[in-house]
Amino acid sequence: MSNKSTPVTPSQVTQTVRAGIECDDPTGCVVPPIHLTSTFAFRGFGQKRGYDYTRSGNPTRDLLAGALAQLELGHGAVVTATGMAAITLVGYLIPARARIVAPHDCYGGTYRLFDAWHRRGEREVEFVNFADEAAVRAALAKPTALLWIETPSNPLLRITDIETFAGWGKASGALVVVDNTFLSPAWQQPLTLGADLVVHSTTKYLNGHSDVVGGAVVARDQAHHEQLLWWANCLGVTGAPFDSFMTLRGLRTLHARLDHHGRNALGLAQWLNGQPGVKRVYYPGLPGHPGHELARRQQRGFGAIVSVEIAGGHEGVRAFVAELECFSLAESLGGVESLVAHPATMTHAAMDPGARLKAGLVDGLIRLSVGIEAFEDLQRDLALALERAASVLPAAAAGRAAAVC
Ligand code: PLP
Repeated sequence: MSNKSTPVTPSQVTQTVRAGIECDDPTGCVVPPIHLTSTFAFRGFGQKRGYDYTRSGNPTRDLLAGALAQLELGHGAVVTATGMAAITLVGYLIPARARIVAPHDCYGGTYRLFDAWHRRGEREVEFVNFADEAAVRAALAKPTALLWIETPSNPLLRITDIETFAGWGKASGALVVVDNTFLSPAWQQPLTLGADLVVHSTTKYLNGHSDVVGGAVVARDQAHHEQLLWWANCLGVTGAPFDSFMTLRGLRTLHARLDHHGRNALGLAQWLNGQPGVKRVYYPGLPGHPGHELARRQQRGFGAIVSVEIAGGHEGVRAFVAELECFSLAESLGGVESLVAHPATMTHAAMDPGARLKAGLVDGLIRLSVGIEAFEDLQRDLALALERAASVLPAAAAGRAAAVC
């Protein structure tokens, strides 16, 4: 038992639930207010208050930034309008035409941005297969300004050893950045493993309710945080106060949601593995996944994305998704509701087909964002969809060739 003379050191869960709670002394409101204002009055001539203009600073957005920095154990964070705005912002921390090394199977929007920078001569980008350590080391043998890590990767859930790769990145002179969108700080804290910056699409688990797009960059040290603040204001990529309020509201239930997401995802991955019509299941929580042991060491949870290769390629996927009722066919992930996406025609359509295939994104691949609905409903839905998809496919295509990955 604690009393006022023995202060409680709150756990990460408590910190998340109570972020910004009871912070407005004049009113005593328990939930922090939304500061929906574009500008702030000066006290008098030459007497600026703490804030002057919402693009450069806003109290609601600062509450969210503070909560994210605390969760990621960073010095500070910058909240951006989207995850892509956060990624763009990071690109301004390195000089023009500097070199970036990134995984060849990173999120399609990241790939598109980096590829566009490369083609315009704005940055030199080398996409590398991060499962091939020798290839990564060879790429980092040349001086590199930025090493981009996405782990688990989207959508094949390849796991990267952050500590080892960050060491190689540092030796090459690189700023080491981890896109932690798939796990959130509840399950992975890359700054403790040597990363300089963590990037989030807060659109996903951090907000968790599919009703806001947003992003964030968390910096481990003050110098990077100051540079990020300067560039975010200069570029105008900062997030809106209302979106920040919504994201802070979603954040409070992060740990409770993730517990449920994780249980459902593991159960479905185990069950899908070996079902007729399923060629391959990608989920780091399965012992056959090549990153399973690393994920056990590096993460506190295996995540709630399960990628599955369905028999019958494109047509198999078409038949399968047509039957689903508890999984909405939609882009995005990380909300409480379950979603299914077809990377080849949706999230990764921006990649050219050759690069997509090289990255392993075959036509039969679907990505499930497993929500927090009742497990039995999700399982029954998938079972019926697999059964009906098999009934419309030629026998050879519908056959089972299970492999766990
Ligand atoms: N990073 C990852 C891993 C993502 O999956 C996404 C979006 O799906 C993004 C970044 C981009 O975030 P946003 O859609 O919020 O711009």
